[in-house]
Amino acid sequence: MEPVSLLVGAALLAAGFLGGRISRRKPTPPAAAAPLCGCGHTLSQHDTETNTCYAELRRDTYDKRGRWSGHQWVPCTCRQYVGPRPIDEVFVPRLLPPTGD
Ligand SMILES: [Zn+2]
Ligand SMILES: [Zn+2]
Repeated sequence: MEPVSLLVGAALLAAGFLGGRISRRKPTPPAAAAPLCGCGHTLSQHDTETNTCYAELRRDTYDKRGRWSGHQWVPCTCRQYVGPRPIDEVFVPRLLPPTGD
């Protein structure tokens, strides 16, 4: 067999191999996004000491005749973050000794 046809065959094999690899590559899972609490807000929107959520929700408001009159921002009713937490967040001590004195 000629060396050239060997090279061509090898190149075709490599192309097929790479093509198969690419087509089998899984799409990025959406779970890689920021962890969310059950209320739909992220951990950073929850108070680290009280665990309550301080994000605000936009609510439609209506006048006495039932007509839409605008928006009102109301605090989220969440009282505790229930979503996944990074492990570092749990074990990092909150109270650090004063520095600079
Ligand atoms: Zn919330
Ligand atoms: Zn929450």
